[in-house]
Amino acid sequence: MVFSRSVIYCNQNPRRESSQMLSSTKRAEVALVSVFSGVILIFFLVYCIIDFRDARSDNLLNLQNQTIGMVSWVDRNLDLTKLAMHAVAEGAPSDCQQEEISSIVGRLLRTVAVEEIEVRKHGSTVCVWKPPVDAFFSSGFCQSPRSENTVVLVSAEGGNGVVAVAHADTRCLLTPFLVSQRDARTEVHLAAGFDDETGGRPVRRVVAFPETSWWDAHAEVAVHSAAWPVSVGVSVPETVLLEAWAQRLPVHIGLFAVLGTVCWFGPIAMMRRRISISGQVRGALRRSEFFLLYLPTVEIESGEWVGVEALLRWRTRQFGTLPPSAFIPWLEKSTLIHDTTNWVMTQAAKDLKRLRETNDNIYVGINVPPSQLADERLLDAALTAFGGDGSALNRVMFELTEREMVDYNSAVVQDVVNRLRAHGALIALDDFGVGFSNIACLRSIRVDVIKVDKSFTQALGAQDFGSASQNPALMDMVVKIAREFDVRVIAEGIETKSQLADLQSLGIRLAQGFLFSRPVELDAVVSHIKERQMMAEAS
Ligand code: C2E
Ligand code: MG
Ligand code: MG
Repeated sequence: MVFSRSVIYCNQNPRRESSQMLSSTKRAEVALVSVFSGVILIFFLVYCIIDFRDARSDNLLNLQNQTIGMVSWVDRNLDLTKLAMHAVAEGAPSDCQQEEISSIVGRLLRTVAVEEIEVRKHGSTVCVWKPPVDAFFSSGFCQSPRSENTVVLVSAEGGNGVVAVAHADTRCLLTPFLVSQRDARTEVHLAAGFDDETGGRPVRRVVAFPETSWWDAHAEVAVHSAAWPVSVGVSVPETVLLEAWAQRLPVHIGLFAVLGTVCWFGPIAMMRRRISISGQVRGALRRSEFFLLYLPTVEIESGEWVGVEALLRWRTRQFGTLPPSAFIPWLEKSTLIHDTTNWVMTQAAKDLKRLRETNDNIYVGINVPPSQLADERLLDAALTAFGGDGSALNRVMFELTEREMVDYNSAVVQDVVNRLRAHGALIALDDFGVGFSNIACLRSIRVDVIKVDKSFTQALGAQDFGSASQNPALMDMVVKIAREFDVRVIAEGIETKSQLADLQSLGIRLAQGFLFSRPVELDAVVSHIKERQMMAEAS
């Protein structure tokens, strides 16, 4: 007869509460991660919007300064032109010698493109000077098309009543600025008027920017000259400003990546730890949400409670009281099992003291995953809890439940077991028959008790398990193994009198099960023992 694995899993499957707890922890973690990502994203977007606004106004300010620079450059050149016209008016002979005007222009107006100079006397034109070779316009330096909008008339009167009027083309003055623009999509617009002191009224023109659609929106800056009828406007597409800002984007992303990582491994990790099961277990230990119930081990013959097994419970706010199957299998995979076992031992040690006041022989069973046997801290913690003297553990039984594979032959395990036993502790194999390596364990370490799993007990007389005669045979086999290894047997999970009778017929003397008692609080154990003592005294 072979016990199928399903028996093991049925027995040890975490219960509904366990999966509820896991899924609620997962949900809380997912919510935390989503909120964190959302907050970081929103911060990032807000930061980008603010930074873009700052960068945009910086760029526009920069553009405005450039435009002011352009206007003052135009102003200076027109001032120079006025000076030159003054020289022409003063020095121009009545026959308007072209060479002389050319030499004045050549000396004073190297940067201004003058289309023509008209020399007038008493309102009528004396002569018109034209540049011999149009250096500016033929060189291609002035590329923007000429229009009336770009020509400024600059006039000056000499002492002799002669007026010289220059037609200065300002667009050429802006060429260096156009060349220096980093983006070809940046447009410079110019509006120039006439400053004609010979009769015409100066006209101030304002730059007219071309209309654009909303998807091709432009940022515009216009600066007017205070001295001359000139205004310069620069318009730059918003996309150019966006592109300029986008170059800083990798830095911002890097900054937020660092910030996000710091938060992720700092406060968020702390919060995740808190809401994770391990965090909740730590909190439970701190807030005393764990408590112990005791399941008696009964001497079948006398009905006396010879020992109690400490069974952990967790009183949670969210799920009520959780049985160990909801969290122990998970805890045993984490390092928190040490803290939990320590807590159980400390509490059980206090309770044992009280129990021994009524029955000095009673022992307490502590459930320990065998993996803890490979850790010397178990011995230290046991001695701290139960007292440090040589026989400190002689009323303690460590029950090893194999939910994971363990190497019982390892030197540390052997050492810890030997030292526990040297202090008087008993070692029991819990759930015998369904663990990973019960027999191997019996061979490797010295065991005092085997606790036959309740599935064996409950199979006694069960119709669907096989023929009734085979079931006692199975239990009989366990008893024989126990004798072989010279260990005592405790049968777990006795629920009916017929199971009890079967066990008795097999010679089993110790048992646990709901037939005797469910796990109860310490007070109930003390009361029961006292009652039994009173009854014994009375009879
Ligand atoms: P276990 O050590 O084999 O404990 C016996 C389990 O069987 C207890 O379940 C008990 O309530 C239950 N039981 C006893 N008699 C009967 C019965 O007649 N019928 C039925 N159906 N069940 C019976 P509990 O308290 O839920 O504990 C389950 C397991 O959790 C324990 O099995 C033990 O392996 C583990 N455990 C409990 N407390 C601790 C602890 O403090 N530390 C560790 N590591 N494990 C613990
Ligand atoms: Mg046990
Ligand atoms: Mg058991």
